[in-house]
This record gives sequence, C-alpha cells and structure tokens, in this order.
Amino acid sequence: MNTRMTEEELLQGFSKALQEGHIFVCYQPKVNHATGRMIGAEALMRWQDPEHGMQYPSDFIPVLEQHDLINKADLAIFEQVCRFQRRCLDEDVKPVPISVNMSRYDIFRNNYLDEIEVIRKKYDIPVKLLHVEITESSAIGGMELVSDVLQKLHAIGYVVEMDDFGSGYSSLNVLKDLAVDVIKLDMRFLSGNIGGRGGTIISSMVQMTKWLGTPAVAEGVETIEQADYMKSIGCCYVQGYLYSKPVPEDEFIRKIVQYEQEPMVQSMDLISVMDAGKFWDPNSMETLIFNNYVGGAAIFSFQNCHMEILRVNQKYIKEIGMNLTEKEILRMDPCDMLDDENKRIYQDALQRAIETGEEQTCETWRKICSKTCGEDKICIRSFIRMIGKAGDQYLFYAMVQNVTAEKKRYEDLYDSERRFRYAIEQVNVYAWEYYFATKQMRPCFRCMRDLHLPPVVENYPDSAFECGIFPMDYYDMYHEMLRKLENGEKEVEAVIPLTVGRIPFRVRYTTEFDETGRPLKAYGSAALIIDETEQKEGA
Ligand code: C2E
Ligand code: CA
Ligand code: CA
Repeated sequence: MNTRMTEEELLQGFSKALQEGHIFVCYQPKVNHATGRMIGAEALMRWQDPEHGMQYPSDFIPVLEQHDLINKADLAIFEQVCRFQRRCLDEDVKPVPISVNMSRYDIFRNNYLDEIEVIRKKYDIPVKLLHVEITESSAIGGMELVSDVLQKLHAIGYVVEMDDFGSGYSSLNVLKDLAVDVIKLDMRFLSGNIGGRGGTIISSMVQMTKWLGTPAVAEGVETIEQADYMKSIGCCYVQGYLYSKPVPEDEFIRKIVQYEQEPMVQSMDLISVMDAGKFWDPNSMETLIFNNYVGGAAIFSFQNCHMEILRVNQKYIKEIGMNLTEKEILRMDPCDMLDDENKRIYQDALQRAIETGEEQTCETWRKICSKTCGEDKICIRSFIRMIGKAGDQYLFYAMVQNVTAEKKRYEDLYDSERRFRYAIEQVNVYAWEYYFATKQMRPCFRCMRDLHLPPVVENYPDSAFECGIFPMDYYDMYHEMLRKLENGEKEVEAVIPLTVGRIPFRVRYTTEFDETGRPLKAYGSAALIIDETEQKEGA
C-alpha cells in the first residue's frame, strides 16, 4: 500500500532516503515510432519509502525545491545515471543517451555545472551519452541566466532538451532566444484530443520545430493512435506508456538489449542564407517580406512523394483564388490535386531544384475543390527553390502565379484555329498563307495531305511550279498576281488549272497588312470549280 508522505515526513526522511538508496532512478525509453528503435531514455526520480511505499515526483519535488534540497537530489540522480552508463559500457551493453531533468533551482545555483562535470569525469562518461532537460518555465524570471547556462552546457558538449514545450504561454519567445537541441512536446497538455483543436495546436508546434531545425519528441504518448498521428505530422520520436512506463535499472538494461538502437537525427538543415527561425517571429523583416513584398508564396516540405504546405502568405491565398481559406490550403496535400502527368512535371521541377540548388520553374494544372466554388482546374506557374533538407525530407520555397486565364485564352485561340481548319476540310477548299518577305508558303493540313507538301514551302511560288502543282504556262500570270498583292492590292482572284490533272480551281488571295500599312502576308485559297459555265469562262 502506498500512502502519501506529509511535507514533514519528506523533509525528515530525505537524507536517510538518499543514503540508503530509497531515492533512485527509473528509465523511460524514447523510441522512433517509424523504425521501432530506441533513441534514448529519460531518467525519472522515484522515492520508495519502506513504510509509505512509492512516492511520486509531483508530490515530493515541489517540497524539495522549496527547501533547497532539489540540488542534492538531482546530483544524486545524475550520479546514478553516470554509474548506470558506466555499467553499460563495462558490461558491453550498447548505451543510449540518457536525459536528466534539471530543475530551475539547479540553474540558479552557480556551480551546478561544475558539480555534474566532476561526477561525469569520475565515471568517465562521454558527454554525448548524457542529455539535459530544462523546462520552459526555467526562463521565467531570468532569460539571461538560462541562456548563459545553455551556452555553458553546449560548450561542454551536452545536448539540451526543452521539456514540456507548449505548456507555457510564451513558448515561441522562449524558443526564439534559447537554441535548444531537442524539443519535447507533451501530449498530456492536449487532453487526448488529437482530432480537434489539440491536433491543430500540436501539428503547428511540430511544424515550428521543423522550421527551427530541431528534432521533436512527443511525450506522454499512451496509445498507438497518438503515436501514429504524431508520425503522420512528422514527429516520429515518442516517449510514453505506449512503449514503456519508467522502469528500474535492471529492467531497463533488458529493454536496451531487446530493442535495436539508432541515433536521434537533426530534423532539418536550413540553407544558410535564410534565418528560418525569424519566419516565426511576427515582427521580423523576413515575415514582413513574406507577407508584403513578394507575390504569392508558400513554404512546403516534401518527402517520399508527399507534400505538406507549412506556410502561405495572403497573396498566395488570393492567387489560388476559389475562395479558399488559409486553413483549407494548409490542410491540402498538393500531390492529391495533380494528375499523374502534372505530378511528374512538378516532381521533376523539385528534383531539378534539389540537384541544382537554383530556382526552377514549371506549370501544372491542379484540380481544386472549394466549398463555395465547387471543383475547378487551375494552372499554376511555380518558381521553386530548395531551402532546406534533412535526410530524404526537403523544404521548398515557392512563388506562384495563377496563369489559368492566360492558358485558357491560348487554348481558346488554338481551339478556334482548329475549328477553322476543320471547316476548310469540310468545304473542299485548300488554304495557305504566303509571306512576302521570305517567300514562304504555309499550307493547310489538306494541302499537306493531298499535295504532299511540307509545313513550310520555301521559295514559293517557283517551287510549286517546279513540282507541277501549277502548270508552267501560268508562271507569269501567277507572279503578276503576287506582285499586285505586294503592291498593296487587297484581293486578287483567278481560275487556274491545278496539278498534273489540270483540274480548274478558283484561286483567291487576300492581303494582310502590318501596322504601317505594308503587305505582310496573303491568305490564299483554292476552291474546286464544279459549275461548267464557270469552267468555260475561266478557260
Ligand atoms: P517530466 O520531466 O515531464 O517527466 C515526464 C513525466 O511523465 C514522468 O512523470 C513520467 O512518468 C510521466 N509519463 C511518461 N509517460 C507517460 C504516459 O504515457 N502517460 C502519463 N500520464 N504520464 C507519463 P513523473 O516520473 O511522475 O515525473 C513528473 C515530473 O517530475 C517530471 O516531469 C519532472 O518535471 C519531474 N522530475 C522527475 N524526475 C526528476 C529529477 O530527477 N529531477 C528533477 N528536478 N525533476 C524531476
Ligand atoms: Ca523531463
Ligand atoms: Ca516533460
């Protein structure tokens, strides 16, 4: 039976508990949920009282803090952790980095770092096997002090983790000023509600950690659903009852042996020129530029053919149009909007951006669905630049232009041209264009097909006479006709027997002039004469 010790009992029993080993460490693994491998563990203090049973930190730590005893306890824990790591090293058990909790009272003590260093050296533990967890609340009442301690820890080589991130009101500001190496997000602050508001909060916190290039560990993960959700939003590192409760030393050794291990890796290397951290600061120049001085712009991550939009500016929302909100845009996976062909075009551009490190351009049609506008296709021209990478995950900056209207105009034009050509096919007419300056003739499909002409006939009309389309006895007359057009005549017309079969056609030319009034080209057509009287007249 566990009974809760009173403050007095705790204070009276403390020294003895420490000496007799009633205050000891339990270890809780941190696991990569994507691989199932262990990346480290956290050391958690326990007090097993012979009379009252197990006491938990939430009850006794505040008492120790109030009575200036926490340093002693923390140093004892630190020593036990070092002794444990020594045991692993000596027993050939592959050690994992173990995080120890540092109370803010430890931070306030001048020589705390010296004290832990003495212990670490006594057991000869490589510094990379020890992490230090500090809480956000340590910063309350003195950012300089915390940032100073952080610098010193870094100078020695400790990895520093920000504990309970998101529990305080000033999380963002704290992160901005404290360059911690790992961020711990506590699921318990979200009261299990990952579907709704809690999910939105935690996913934006994970995005933030990505931005800062800092790996994140989700703490208090109790269910597979929570772990899967965290993985889906890009946070694979989890700690919590799902994998293991905090367990005593011997049991933990068994877990180390049982699990495979892997190192924790940096989440994202941001490419130097840009201080990505500043994007989260609403007052920074970067944010100002992002929101006001560039066109539609977005930042997105890309991994295994999966894209996630992390941030868009107001102009992006306007450029895409269709009455979408920022939230709706952030929730979309752009890959879902692209068909296979457009996906290939887009991913090729991403690949080029990765390979060259330079801006790449592409145009893709996307199917967009909005509540108010329904479903529509839009064409987006993107200018893409890679701004960060970590493993197979990449971060991109994209400027976008909605070129749907432009494309549609072009398509309409193409369409009317196609219809025109089709109409010509229907009425037994041959059509072509003749360019005065270059003596080039561009025949219609029908000419090309029936007369075996190339798309551009050079040295017209002489070449047409040479190959027998026109009979030689019409040579002078035809040249005279073209000369008239070149001299400004708007229209000419004649009946000419065409091809070796000498079939009579009515040949007509209409001139097109440039803006200075000079003849530019002539549209020619040849229509078969069916009426016999006309045929006689012509002959
Ligand atoms: P913490 O640093 O946030 O530690 C995580 C707490 O979450 C631990 O509680 C752990 O047992 C608990 N926990 C882990 N997984 C789950 C889960 O899936 N569900 C739930 N509901 N809880 C989970 P614990 O051991 O009671 O420690 C409480 C707090 O006491 C710690 O919070 C830490 O702030 C402090 N603490 C623990 N050990 C030490 C220590 O050695 N030194 C100092 N200064 N503080 C310590
Ligand atoms: Ca902790
Ligand atoms: Ca925590």
